[in-house]
Amino acid sequence: MYLYNSATHKKEEFKTHTPGRVEMYTCGPTVYHFAHIGNLRSYIMEDVLEKYLRFAGYDVNRVMNITDVGHLSSDADTGEDKMLKGAKRENKTVMDIAKFYTDAFFDDCRKLNIKTPDVVQPATGCIDEYIKIISKLVDTGYAYLAGGNVYFDSSKLERYYIFNDHDEEDLAVGVREGVEEDSNKRNKNDFVLWFTKSKFEDQALKWDSPWGVGYPGWHIECSGISMKYNGEYLDLHCGGVDNAFPHHTNEIAQSESYLGHPWCPHWFHVHHLNDPAGKMSKSKGEFLTVSLLEEKGYDPLAYRWFCLQSHYRKTLVFSWENLDNAAAAYTKLLNRIAALKPEGDVDTAVFDEYREKFLQQVGNDLNTSMAVTAVFDALKAKTNDATKLAIIGEFDKVLSMSLLEKAAALREKAAQAVQSGGGDYVITGEGDPEIDAKVLARYEAKKARNFAEADRIRDELKAQGIEVTDVKGGASWKRI
Ligand SMILES: [Zn+2]
Repeated sequence: MYLYNSATHKKEEFKTHTPGRVEMYTCGPTVYHFAHIGNLRSYIMEDVLEKYLRFAGYDVNRVMNITDVGHLSSDADTGEDKMLKGAKRENKTVMDIAKFYTDAFFDDCRKLNIKTPDVVQPATGCIDEYIKIISKLVDTGYAYLAGGNVYFDSSKLERYYIFNDHDEEDLAVGVREGVEEDSNKRNKNDFVLWFTKSKFEDQALKWDSPWGVGYPGWHIECSGISMKYNGEYLDLHCGGVDNAFPHHTNEIAQSESYLGHPWCPHWFHVHHLNDPAGKMSKSKGEFLTVSLLEEKGYDPLAYRWFCLQSHYRKTLVFSWENLDNAAAAYTKLLNRIAALKPEGDVDTAVFDEYREKFLQQVGNDLNTSMAVTAVFDALKAKTNDATKLAIIGEFDKVLSMSLLEKAAALREKAAQAVQSGGGDYVITGEGDPEIDAKVLARYEAKKARNFAEADRIRDELKAQGIEVTDVKGGASWKRI
């Protein structure tokens, strides 16, 4: 596989420390609120990446943290504590908030067919790991105590900026609102590893440490959790592009200083979901969640389909119109798959040819739009329906769009509609499940006011020599 590496700014052949095995780490959510669909874009693309790597034959160990302590709202070491903010807003304890929003996050993931990583670790469960790392950093002079807190000394590094040049990364801090300088810091890029004194005196979660009772900084949790479950050599680190600086930069600084050798060679960053006016965030405009999509009548998988259509390194522009288009395309695809007859033997030569092509095309920097195209190509393949279904099922191991399951459900629904009295829409015809499925798809499209799709299906049926007549409570069809 070839994958763009944010650390080297180029597309590279993906290699792992142990051949055939991928140690993969994903920055997880801060569980103080529902997940925004913009954040979920990252998790969708990381899910596709993991599934592609497995599809390509790798054994993957994927680890993710859950930030339930210490994440400050500015992403630097200033601003408000996100967890405390959530607890105050809802008049609950921090742990109640964490539990509630962790469950909500995984509910959203399930609806979007995002697999749960092999290891999910709440940050509060690994305090000993952080203390072990910080102790060594203090002993070796990479960290210092000031004002009751432990800071990482960024001046000890030959190279601190990783993802961009100096000016660009600084700029990212400069534009943040309300950044207050911490006078304990020796250098402006130093960051807190352990707090005992913070402006949050009412911090609910505190632990004993060699530096006093307190709690860890945000960045240390990902290094600690990754080293515990991925080992000393991480192959692939993922996150949203806004995590690159300072979060990932600081993870690299502390991990490599602790380990004394390079830590993670490959960095995968998913770009933003924007609205037509600019970057979306929880703080402005309509708060877009999976639940809101459902309330508005969308299948959450239509959003997944929308994300797959564009490349992870491009900003994706969200609008309801764009989502409508993706939802219509998804429905149309399912109807086409439902019309395939699951009969006959799979032509393994054709199957292998399509699988190999998919592996190559999608393996070019996780080209998901090519993966989408590949499904349509499979529908047009010069082979029998059983082979087409097998190919589509194979591709769906990576896409996770429930293509075969949903198509089978549509076929079943069509079959029920054929039996008189079996549902609210009755189809009478000459007993051909493929035609029945199309007639039902036309009805569903009309019901959804997607008249263009309904007309397209009618024309397609006409081209097959089928005439459909709408009758009360259903439709009847015959060959002409
Ligand atoms: Zn992280």
